[in-house]
Parts: sequence; structure tokens; C-alpha cells
Amino acid sequence: MDPRIFCIGRNYVEHIRELGHPEDGDCVVFMKPATCLVPPGSAVSIPTDRGSVHHEAELVVRIGRAVRDEPPTETADAVDALALGLDLTLRDEQTRLRDGGKPWELAKAFDHSAPLGPFTPWRGDVSLNAIEFSCHVNGELRQQGNTCQMLFSIERIISILSRSWQLLPGDLIYTGTPAGVGALRPGDVVELDSSVLQSAQWPIVGYDALQKLG
Ligand code: MG
Repeated sequence: MDPRIFCIGRNYVEHIRELGHPEDGDCVVFMKPATCLVPPGSAVSIPTDRGSVHHEAELVVRIGRAVRDEPPTETADAVDALALGLDLTLRDEQTRLRDGGKPWELAKAFDHSAPLGPFTPWRGDVSLNAIEFSCHVNGELRQQGNTCQMLFSIERIISILSRSWQLLPGDLIYTGTPAGVGALRPGDVVELDSSVLQSAQWPIVGYDALQKLG
């Protein structure tokens, strides 16, 4: 079975402020289909005719056991592995949809919108609440975050999701992005790094370039 991809929005205060979102305390949840995933090193194809495409560097959690309606104090051992990933976002389209009170899927759940790096198994040895990570585009630092800055911790996110879905082994959670999001263009190279997780890199191409590549 394909993994389900849960995504958390507005989980870092500085990112909420840079986009001018309300700080209302709600945990924002949306989903992407598994067909959005792109493995590390593969070309990521982005639309070139739908406004800006923003990188959102995020820590990604892979679930290792069934979780149903559990409190945050019991969910840490449901984490099987961690990775770095991108929640690519059609920002202009998202703003338009958001302002119109419409769902975000067109701006968030398009093909190739969830590049995913290699997994590092999690055995409880690294604190889930002190993982730093960064995003470089063409070698330039764009985003730097630490899971200690999250409004909703990983344990709490799993608990919240488990009230609406029985989480299953293999499910993925993109846990939100720190400040510094910005536009990508064909020809860019995005790299995600962390001192405790495996790094990942993706070249960005436009739809037209991908078609020419065949
Ligand atoms: Mg995001």
C-alpha cells in the first residue's frame, strides 16, 4: 500500500509571520498523494506557468506502528525513521485559494510536490525536539530550522493525527517549515542537510525541460 502523506502547516512562528498568517493556535493539516514523492537525486519537475513555486524544507517522520487516539506522552515510540523533505508550494495559487476560502490541494498536492530524502532509522537516541536542519539553493543558505522551534512537537502531531486517522506503518508526516521560504526556478539545485540525518539534493527542471529529456 502506498504511504499516506500528512502535512502540517504553520508550525514555526517565524514562518507564520513571514507569510502574514494568523497565529490562532490551530494545527493545520493537509495531505498529498504518494505520487507526489520524488527520491533524492532525481529531477524535480515544477510548473513554469502557475506563478511562484516555493521550497519549504521540512523534517519528515515515518510511522512504524499503528497509532489510534494516543496522548503525546505515548507516541514517540511510533516514530520509525526520520528524513528531510520538501513541501513544494505554488505560493501565488495558494494565496488565491486561501483568500477565496478554498482548499489548498491545487497549490500543494501536485505531481513532484514532495521530494523526500533518505531515511535515518530513529531509535530514541536523538531528541525529536532538537533536530537542526538547513536548506541551500545553489549553495546559498535559504532556510535554517530546529524542531525545538515547532509550535506542535512531533509527539503532539502524531497524537493529533491519531484522533482522526489510525496511523499505520509507513505513513509519512511532513512537520512544517521554518522561515526563509522562497521561489525555485528551473536549473536550481536544492540541498537539505542536518548533522544527524542524511542529506539530500534535487535538481529542479521545468515541465518543458522534462518533456525534452523524454
Ligand atoms: Mg509546509
